[in-house]
Amino acid sequence: MGHIMQVKLLGVRGTLPVHGPEFARFGGATSCVLVRAGGETILFDAGTGLSGRAWRDFFPEKHGTLLITHAHVDHLMGLPVFPLLFDPTARCDIYLKTREGRTGREQIEALMSPPLWPIRTDSLKAAVDIRNVPDAFSVGPVAVEAMESRHPGGSTIYKITCGGVSLVYATDYEPESDAPDDFCAFAEGCTLLLLDAQYTRSEYERNRGFGHSTIPRSAAIARRCGAEQALLIHHDPTRTDRQLLALEATVRAQHPNVRFGRGGEEVFL
Ligand SMILES: [Zn+2]
Ligand SMILES: [Zn+2]
Repeated sequence: MGHIMQVKLLGVRGTLPVHGPEFARFGGATSCVLVRAGGETILFDAGTGLSGRAWRDFFPEKHGTLLITHAHVDHLMGLPVFPLLFDPTARCDIYLKTREGRTGREQIEALMSPPLWPIRTDSLKAAVDIRNVPDAFSVGPVAVEAMESRHPGGSTIYKITCGGVSLVYATDYEPESDAPDDFCAFAEGCTLLLLDAQYTRSEYERNRGFGHSTIPRSAAIARRCGAEQALLIHHDPTRTDRQLLALEATVRAQHPNVRFGRGGEEVFL
């Protein structure tokens, strides 16, 4: 006890789920982060990290709020099998921004309809409300702010604040420099920063415009915005544990408050 936010990283792998002994430490599940704060359960993204968990422990109120960054499948693939949606006594509010002229509901319906998936959204049992993302809103006592990312097709960066503790979730973000003014202002002084760091610098040269950051750039941004601690996430699907540990050691030598996120780890703020 004595903490305000419980943060559980359920999936920190980027782009594609991976499995095998060489990925065991950092995990192979795609984007999903669970937060318990102020009596609320908030989930960032619904990647494959959302599947196969003991959900009852995390939703004592049977009410969940999903803050989805965007509908790329690595961020949504866990949603159609999320048990809370099939509990007739549960409530779930899903925030997903209207994009390319399609509402969040239409984006989820596109995934959850035959032939891509046999179960449609109209057969979900819980009370599910799919909403557009305002710039600022609240989930119980938790304040939520949203900022537009730089990512092909768009993506949403979220900040949640409760009891003086703040967390910024910024994945699928391609910063234009080591000190992007808009992002650094948005994330300034946050307690925990979760930040995309898919590429090494040399990989980035081949993947410019794909909407992701680099490890050294994200470490520099974490320092620049004065985050108390930062966890780099959205690890490239080709990156093994051994490679991640070596890269992490290099980063930590320069930035002691920056680590790489590990699937399954918990952080108390
Ligand atoms: Zn992604
Ligand atoms: Zn994406």
